[in-house]
Parts: sequence; C-alpha cells; structure tokens
Amino acid sequence: MSKFMSNMNNAASEKFDIQGALKQYFGFDSFKGEQLEIIKSVLDSQDTFVLMPTGGGKSLCYQLPGILSEGTAIVVSPLIALMKNQVDLVRNYSENENIAHFYNSTLNVTQKRAVEKDVRDGITKLLYVAPETLAKEDNFDFYSSFKISFIAVDEAHCISEWGHDFRPEYRKIREAVDRIPYKVPLIALTATATPKVQADIAKNLGLAKGYNLFVSSFNRPSLYYEIRHKVNDDWAIRNIVMFIKQQENKSGIIYVLNRKSAEKIAEILCVNGIKAAPYHAGLDTKVRNNTQDDFLKEDINVIVATVAFGMGIDKPDIRFVIHFNIAKSIENYYQETGRAGRDGLEGNCIAYFNYKDISKVEKLLSDKTVTERERGMLLIDETVAYIETGECRRKFLLNYFGQNYTEPQCSEQKMCDNCKNPKEQKDVTEDMAYAIETVLACEETHFMDHIIRVIRGEKSDGVSSYKHHLLPQFGLGKDKEALYWTSILRNAIIQNLLYREIEEYNTLKVSEKGKAYIEQPYVIKIAMNHDYENEIPVVFASGNTSALDKVLFQILKDVRKGESKKLNLPPYIVVQDPALEEMCLKYPVTLQEFGEIAGITKAKVAKFGQVFVDAISKYVKDHNIERPVDMTIRTVVNKNSDKIKIIKSIDKKISLESLAAEMNIEFSELVDELESIVISGTKIDINYFLDEIMDGELLEEMYEFFQNNETGDIEACYQAFIDDDLPEDDIRLVKLQFISNNLN
Ligand code: ADP
Ligand code: MG
Ligand code: ZN
Repeated sequence: MSKFMSNMNNAASEKFDIQGALKQYFGFDSFKGEQLEIIKSVLDSQDTFVLMPTGGGKSLCYQLPGILSEGTAIVVSPLIALMKNQVDLVRNYSENENIAHFYNSTLNVTQKRAVEKDVRDGITKLLYVAPETLAKEDNFDFYSSFKISFIAVDEAHCISEWGHDFRPEYRKIREAVDRIPYKVPLIALTATATPKVQADIAKNLGLAKGYNLFVSSFNRPSLYYEIRHKVNDDWAIRNIVMFIKQQENKSGIIYVLNRKSAEKIAEILCVNGIKAAPYHAGLDTKVRNNTQDDFLKEDINVIVATVAFGMGIDKPDIRFVIHFNIAKSIENYYQETGRAGRDGLEGNCIAYFNYKDISKVEKLLSDKTVTERERGMLLIDETVAYIETGECRRKFLLNYFGQNYTEPQCSEQKMCDNCKNPKEQKDVTEDMAYAIETVLACEETHFMDHIIRVIRGEKSDGVSSYKHHLLPQFGLGKDKEALYWTSILRNAIIQNLLYREIEEYNTLKVSEKGKAYIEQPYVIKIAMNHDYENEIPVVFASGNTSALDKVLFQILKDVRKGESKKLNLPPYIVVQDPALEEMCLKYPVTLQEFGEIAGITKAKVAKFGQVFVDAISKYVKDHNIERPVDMTIRTVVNKNSDKIKIIKSIDKKISLESLAAEMNIEFSELVDELESIVISGTKIDINYFLDEIMDGELLEEMYEFFQNNETGDIEACYQAFIDDDLPEDDIRLVKLQFISNNLN
C-alpha cells in the first residue's frame, strides 16, 4: 500500500469499490468530470456543493453513494411530475425494482405504507421527496424510523429568489434537516452559475463551514448559439417550420411566453407534418404527463412549451432549443438552452428576438413589488445586452457566470453567430462620456427614451417642456441612430456607470463610477452591437447552413424597382420585403408557387408574377440551385379571430383607440396587427380615423411623401414633417392607408 493510500485509510470512502459500482449499477466505464471526487466527498459524510452544467452528470453524484451507503438517502427534487421519470431511470439500472421510490402527495395510504416498509427494511436506497413532503410534520415519525445516509438537494437554485426557478418550499429544507436528531450530511447540486445564487444556496441550506465545493466549467462546447431578429411573429413561425423540417425528426423544444402561442405554434407545426404538442400550465396533469412521455418515447418530436417544461427532463438527445420569445434572464436562457445536447453532441440554440418582446416581458413585471421589479428590470437589461452584443456569445455567457473563456474553439468552429460573422470592435469612449453627461445634464430624473431624444436633438413635447433643447448636449449625437445610443446606455448600465432608480419608475442616474468616468474616461471598446432592425435576417443556422440568398435578394429588388418605376409607385407597394425574402428561400418558378408566397395576392400574381418568376427561374438555372421541395408552409386558417375582429370593427368605423382599449392591447400593437393585415394583401379603410386625428391637407402631403419616398421609412417621414411632431403610430397608419389605397 502506498504512503498516500495509508494516509487516507480512515476515509470512509476508501472501503468502497466505487469504480466497480459504477460499472455494476450504471454500466459506465469511467467517471465524467469530477464525479469521483464528489462521490468520495459524500461517502466521507462531508457537506458537498456541486455546480455543474446541465448534462454534466449530477444525478450519479448522489445516486451512486446512495446505493453504497448504509441506510437510505433522501433526494429532494422540485417537481413531482419528474420524480417518476427519475425513479424509473434508477430502477432501470438495478435488478431490484424497489431500490428507489418516490414519496409524495400522489401516493395513496396503501402505497405510502409499502414505500415506508421498503425503506425500513433497507431495500430502498434512494427516496425521492418533494420539498414540501420533506418539511411535512406528519412525516417526521417516518424519517426517524430509519437511518438517513445523507440528503441530496437537487436543483438547489430553487432556494434563491435570484435563481430562475424560485420555490419558497425550498427555504424550509434546513429547518427540516435540523429536526433530525443526528448529523446528516447534505449534498446540494445545481446547474446555476451566478455567484449571487451560489451564495444564497450555501447560506440558506446552512452548509457546514469548510464544505467541499466542486465547480465545473459552464462551457457547453457542443451548443451553437444564435439570435435571430424576429421581423414579426408570423415570419418567425415560418422560419421555425422551415428550420424544423430540415431536422429530420430530431427532438427539440420551442419556448414561448404564453399558452396561446404554445397552442397556436404547435398546431401550425402539426399541419405542416411535424409531430408537435403544446405543454403549459393550463393543460391538466394527465395530458401533460402523456405529452412528456410521448416526447421521451419520440412519438412527439417537438414540444412547444411555456417555461413550465424541461427542468430535469432526462432526454439526452434534444437537438434544438428555440426561444420564440426571449428568456426573462440570462440564467433562464442558459438553463433552457442547456437542455439541448446533454449527450455532448449537436445542440442548436436559436432565440428570436425583437424589441417589442422586451416590453412584453417588462409589462409582466408591472404588478410586482418594487424589489421584484427592480430585480426583473436588471435581469432584462442584462438579457438585452447579451442579445445586442457583437462579442462571442459563449464568451459573454461565461463572463456573466464569472468564468473566463479564452479558448479558440468557438471562433474556430464558428459555434455562435457572432463568431460566424465577426463584428468590428469600435471605440465608444467619447460617446460613453457624452451619454453620461447628458444624463447628468437632465438632472437624473428622466427615462432612457428622453435621454436619447436629447442626445439626438429631437424636440418632443417632453424635451421642450423641460427646456432640454437648450442644453449644450442637445443634438450632439444626432449623427448616430437611436439604437446606437440605446446600446451605449444599456452598456453603461451593465458596466455600472449608470443605474436605474426603481423607486422613481426607472429614471436613469449616474453612479459614482460613472461620475469618475466623465472626469477620466478610459477606453471602452465594444464590438458594434447588432442593428437588428436593419440587418437582413439570416435564415438557417446549424451545420448545413443555408442563409438567405442575398444575391437573389438583390436581383429581385432590382426587378421590383423596375416594376415600381413603370407604375410610378414606390417599390414597397409592389412587393414587401418579407415576401421577397420568402422568394429567396422557396424559389418559386411557377405562377402558382409565386401565389403561395405570403403577401402575394391574386392581383399581384397577375400584375407582377411573370417578371418575378422569370427572374427566379433564370437564376435557379444559372446557379444550379436545388429548390427546396415541400417547403410550403401551411397556416391555420380562420383561427385568427383578432384580425377578423379588427377588420369588422374598421368596417363599422369604430375609433381605433377604443378598439385597442377593448382588445386590451397597446395602440401600437393594434397598428402591428393592421400592418400584418395589409401586408397579407387585405385592403382596409381607416380614413374615418385619419380624418379625426389630422387635417386633410397634412394627410395629402404625407401621401405625397410616401408616393415619392423609396423605402417608405417612418423615421424619414417624421423628419420631413418635423414641425408637426407626429407620433410614430400615426405615421404608420398613414403609410398603411397609402399602401391599402394602392392594393388591388
Ligand atoms: P445533470 O443532472 O447534471 O443535468 P444527468 O445526471 O441527467 O445530468 O446526466 C446527464 C447524462 O449523462 C445522462 O444521460 C447520464 O446517463 C450520463 N452520464 C452520467 N454520468 C456518466 C458517466 N460517468 N459516463 C457516461 N455517461 C454518464
Ligand atoms: Mg439533473
Ligand atoms: Zn463565439
């Protein structure tokens, strides 16, 4: 025996054949990462804290010592629905069915007694309980009737309000442990990486001083990260259908914000031949369990879920995770994307994003307490910074979790969209100082929008009423877009140069660090953020990348221009951009196929079909393009009751403001809806409303503007009528009516 070994002689873990047990009970030949060290720590009765990303192999860290130790290990796990799945997995490994049981409110009295007997008889080595079961008064007699080897707290981040899945019952674990009359070691496990949550867990569980901490790298090398700018919901759904159709029955999850979208998207996937099902809290338990089972058995390939789905789901080969709406924090995003590729193989993580979704998430916070709002806003800011960043996404994520990423892998293998298409680094030192000075000059009592208007020299009512147009800073930054300044300000918040005062409804304030920065600026370089509003959306990611055909896109734009010249109409009246983009994906070469493009009406087929089809056919031939077959996306017809309601209300000349109020949506959301109605080729007449909000002469002038402006740019229109200081929504409405007037 070596010297080292003899020194370790008194360690309890030495008397077990851990390696042999790995093979015998789990069939594996070697440990993953630090599993062996963790298992030893548990067998040595040390309090142990394990931070390991999803798929790292945390379960084994308590299952194996549970099996080897004398007595029974209690495993606290948050979801009753998942316990069965976990217990089944353990049972599978063993010849003894009763080696693992769950003990919770779903058992009847007879079943409960049977479990209790197995535990007392020492047959059961792992007892899965929910946190509320652990703390339940009635159960303490039972707990004192057998030897508890240790308590494992899985998904331990549920303890922290800063985590992505706070559960108040988790706070009662320590209290319950303290009632056990002998010292029971604890092992806490989580994939959560933020230092704040880690500290909360150790404190709340009361881990013994000097507990053993095991932190793995949070890098998931096989996951590919991409953010796609969401032109609108319908566009994103089409995009998703096409993406999934290329995945050859691979499993995936789509995360959405609410039940309605879960239902709607699942339905569209189904009519397009994809085996999909919704999963959300509004479904009854039985349906949910069946859906989960079907997914595990691969009778269903795609789950469209609100965030209620996925935690602890042990499916190692989920190949894609799509966020239809952006997650409400980076932590959520990381956990949810982490469900892809647990087996270390391919995992495509694609998130759709637009700024409106951010406001939706923000709105969900409005009825929360001040602290909750404060926390929520901060988390959202960080998420937006992640989305906008031009840096390597993997680097950003790992930095966020306090880990460094210096490996060349992401950039070499192009494992994120930013490494695939690198952005230039830009020095923003001066602009940063200027933005902070402007916040000071506005006396730190305004919102971000206001600051940006001042920076860009936009004299809105708000700006003039505070006389901020007289400030020396007014308009100094007008050569750059609002989006640029938003990113500077958001960046300043992330870097703690600015902060939001929640007590004053999120007005921007300058921190001490920010004040010091103005005095003595240091170089701040940021990879230029994405300008999602103006980037042409790239359509497919994953291994076999096929981006939107930009060459064809340019050709079709020229065709469109030619047609628009002939008719003396602006190009976007002929065909809108989303339709052109769709053509660049589907390559329609017959009039019928052309007519299937969204936004192409019968009249448009008749008027422009031939020129477009000819141009596309020539291109397809010249470039030897293999056209995607069966790429027609079917939509669910007659389901869109909102749109029908809007069209009917307009026929009845109902004021758009009251309509928005009645539908319980923002005015701008109503305008969004109208936009998609018109873009899809339906004529509307809102002249009655326009007459109400502006005088006829102005309306005529604006029509003339749209007649002559090539892109129909809203901002340009605002500038052209700057004295009228027209609200954006009003301009959009005029443009819609103008498009509608020219539809036939
Ligand atoms: P986590 O809880 O950390 O997300 P799991 O415990 O669910 O991870 O394990 C993820 C996958 O890794 C499972 O499919 C599991 O069977 C597998 N696994 C765990 N340990 C090993 C090992 N030592 N060798 C091979 N596969 C392992
Ligand atoms: Mg787990
Ligand atoms: Zn990268």
